[in-house]
Amino acid sequence: MTGSYDVVILGSGTTAFAAAKTIAASGGRVLMVEQSHLGGTCVNWGCVPSKTLIHQAEVYFAARRGEAFGLNLAAAFPNCGLLMAEKRKAVETVRREHYQKELEANDRIDVLRGHGQFLSPQELQVGAEVVRCERFLIATGGIPRVARIPGLTDVDYLTSYSALHLACFPKSMIILGGGVIALEMGQMFRRFGTAVTILERGERLLKEFDPRLTQVFQEILEEEGVVLRFGVETRRIYREGEESCLVAEVAGEEQIFRAERLMLAVGTAPASVGIGLELAGVQVNEGGFIITDEEMRTTSPGIWAAGDVTGPPLIAPAGAREAEVAAQNMLNPEAHRRITHRHTPMAVFVDPELATVGISPEEAREEGREVVETCFDLDLVAKAHVMGGRRGRMLLVAERGSGRLLGVQLLAPRAADIIHEATLAVRFGLTVFDLAETIHVYPSISDGLRLAALENIRQQALA
Ligand SMILES: Cc1cc2nc3c(=O)[nH]c(=O)nc-3n(C[C@H](O)[C@H](O)[C@H](O)COP(=O)(O)OP(=O)(O)OC[C@H]3O[C@@H](n4cnc5c(N)ncnc54)[C@H](O)[C@@H]3O)c2cc1C
Repeated sequence: MTGSYDVVILGSGTTAFAAAKTIAASGGRVLMVEQSHLGGTCVNWGCVPSKTLIHQAEVYFAARRGEAFGLNLAAAFPNCGLLMAEKRKAVETVRREHYQKELEANDRIDVLRGHGQFLSPQELQVGAEVVRCERFLIATGGIPRVARIPGLTDVDYLTSYSALHLACFPKSMIILGGGVIALEMGQMFRRFGTAVTILERGERLLKEFDPRLTQVFQEILEEEGVVLRFGVETRRIYREGEESCLVAEVAGEEQIFRAERLMLAVGTAPASVGIGLELAGVQVNEGGFIITDEEMRTTSPGIWAAGDVTGPPLIAPAGAREAEVAAQNMLNPEAHRRITHRHTPMAVFVDPELATVGISPEEAREEGREVVETCFDLDLVAKAHVMGGRRGRMLLVAERGSGRLLGVQLLAPRAADIIHEATLAVRFGLTVFDLAETIHVYPSISDGLRLAALENIRQQALA
């Protein structure tokens, strides 16, 4: 297979598809090499299945909460089999509508099934075939990281992939790790009736968020019955009867945690092993992520990389944007398109949602900027009360004097949607004055951003 493609892409996930569509739209021909399901992690094992179940858990929780408001909904136990079937339907629909149909409609994009492995910078072995091309994009993504813990293989542990395919909800679950996936899935399983214990090695949740927000979320989570333990150093794991047992050191003392199931949520490892990177001259960093420059070039001329395999931010839209930039540079070496994630928003799909864009007050100060920060309570937003007294916070970081918005963090219902108003403001250099003068819908959670901006202006005047 030689010369018939302008670009060969290893993988067919969100990142690969974004690159393929960009190249095809410019008249190029693309081959994607895929060893598993079309569409990669996001549609098959990540965003779509997890958010479908998380949404149902939220509906179920809201229904039970509604009883307290006089809705008289006596929610029975959730039906795991039906929920999983609905989730499968969502996955299959998104895969068909967003990926399969795109391929069928686009005769410039082909897919070759099989495991791809470089033989040289211009040759990729796929099964019995050798694909030759002058330009490759590596978009192999990541896989759930498996911690090296004595005894781990003696228990039938879960990862984020297998936890989304359970036949029934376990009675109890230990989740090792306190990051995004642990919190999203931990709250979801708790709401479906599982007794959840989250064990985190660090001293607090989600370092990418301000503690004033994560503290409120932690309280909400604990009120729902999730047990959180910090400073946990895992020592070993063993099986006893039907239970998985985890021995850990917590504050200098040995403790044993027991549950029906153990889930690992200790991060994502890059899918960069066993793909012949050494033969292609592509270097990786100490974490195994492929090293790229801002134009998404690897250390090997003619080979680009994008998405999870290149490291954080490990979110689908970031990989897709990196892929578009890579594709533009592949097609036109003079383009020199670059990527920065300074304005890339990110959300955690817990309830209430967490979302962030821009920089934190500490990062702003490290850059030598004077800032005025406003931590605004959702209690002051009418919509929060309309919604049944929802708790949350909004953090605005604005440059002192100019009022330019540098960063925004939200803990609020639908924060993953509302963050886009802040994203536009941060990206295009808008100020708290712009935000305060913009009429917002009433009542709405977004109106909290306007109120927080007014408070920031008041603080600026006092400073
Ligand atoms: C549980 C979970 C929930 C998530 N939720 C969200 C969310 O809500 N929002 C969000 O933005 N992100 C979310 N993510 C992250 C998101 O899924 C990833 O950032 C995104 O899928 C990465 O896309 P990618 O194309 O770079 O890699 P992938 O989607 O992993 O695609 C890589 C593809 O390459 C294939 N491949 C790998 N090696 C080879 C090879 N040698 N030969 C052939 N094919 C190969 C794989 O089979 C795979 O299909 C979540 C992830 C998980 C695990």
